[in-house]
Amino acid sequence: MDPRHLLDLDRAHVWHPYAPMPGTVDPYVVESASGVRLRLAQPVAGRDELVDGMSSWWAAIHGYGHPVLDEAVRAQLGRMSHVMFGGLTHEPAVRLAARLVEITPEPLQHVFLGDSGSVAVEVAMKMCLQYWVSVGRPAKRRLLTWRGGYHGDTFHPMSVCDPEGGMHALWGGVLPHQVFAEEPPGGYDAPLDGAYAAHLAELIERHAGELAAVIVEPVVQGAGGMRFHSPAYLRLLRELCDRHDVLLVFDEIATGFGRTGELFAADHARVSPDVMCLGKALTGGYLTMAATLCTSRIADGISRGEVPVLAHGPTFMGNPLAAAVANASIDLLLGQDWQVEVKRIETGLRAGLADAASVPGVHDVRVLGAIGVVQLDHPVDMRAATAAAAAEGVWLRPFRDLIYTMPPYVTDDTDLGRITAAVRAAAAAG
Ligand code: PLP
Repeated sequence: MDPRHLLDLDRAHVWHPYAPMPGTVDPYVVESASGVRLRLAQPVAGRDELVDGMSSWWAAIHGYGHPVLDEAVRAQLGRMSHVMFGGLTHEPAVRLAARLVEITPEPLQHVFLGDSGSVAVEVAMKMCLQYWVSVGRPAKRRLLTWRGGYHGDTFHPMSVCDPEGGMHALWGGVLPHQVFAEEPPGGYDAPLDGAYAAHLAELIERHAGELAAVIVEPVVQGAGGMRFHSPAYLRLLRELCDRHDVLLVFDEIATGFGRTGELFAADHARVSPDVMCLGKALTGGYLTMAATLCTSRIADGISRGEVPVLAHGPTFMGNPLAAAVANASIDLLLGQDWQVEVKRIETGLRAGLADAASVPGVHDVRVLGAIGVVQLDHPVDMRAATAAAAAEGVWLRPFRDLIYTMPPYVTDDTDLGRITAAVRAAAAAG
């Protein structure tokens, strides 16, 4: 299709994420993707391909068109692309569930294979609420989280997103009313703040009788503001939740599979949650699948309840194609020295973004694992910043006051240099 015609149809009919209808900003038309590059149907700023600095929103950790992942999908396609999961099962899903149990903290034993990150969070919340109903404590039905988080766009996850500055402020009146703690102070290396610890302890103690669970994004708060927290706060949460009989949920949808330098962000603190949500990089970014893992305590509690089933079952649950590519993606990741690659990217991001701190209008520069963030002291001009990155041959998607990158782990040092140059250029332009 002629790219101009395609864009006309797109503007008229296609709703993009967080966009008005009809669209006001033309998206770049991607024709194909290979390695770390997106090939464009029509050049932007003289570039017909862009290095992807976003890993398709945290997901494409091995880049695009990886031969091993392509083959996994092809082989599975030859057997079966989909089959319902109610009353039927299959090897790709069973292997995946067993593998996830093996690589996540030991108490997590049971896996629900849903079809998106938001659903994984819905399921996590449902597990927690239903557990307390099943064991005879139905008053425990609220969630506590700290401000500044992001857990998805469906209604229950929206209720634990940042209530003010966040993306779902519009819905304040109709969402379940949750308990919000302040966000932990300081960055990744900050020492535990005593006053903050007391605030968290007081809030959890005060609400313990009505709290089903605490839910947080461990170590890195993603779409809510790309902020890093000390792992010490995860240990504190574990301690407080144990003391007050509240479940602990880690949403690792963005952080899972090595992004922060540990396989899971929980590993920074050596803490195990009661429930863990995974998504995004689970399938190497190939297909939509997410997982919610829980302990035997929760599964047994639900299964002994008055309604002894977890009442959730999406049509595409456990999809064999997605499970097959997830298995291949995990094997690919763990079959190599992935920590060396993530460390290499971290080093490259630190070196390449250090100068950005002196760009006028830059408030903060922070790097953790394969995540680099430049925070401005003003809202970013998205169009100008995106175009400045494209002129450097790089795809970035700034938002709010943030220009950030989380490149595929296969990005080589030359392309990494392009990405950091593009972040600096976007910061100067935005
Ligand atoms: N939780 C976190 C931490 C996320 O970053 C996201 C997506 O950005 C979600 C949940 C929602 O996932 P999905 O977009 O697949 O529904």
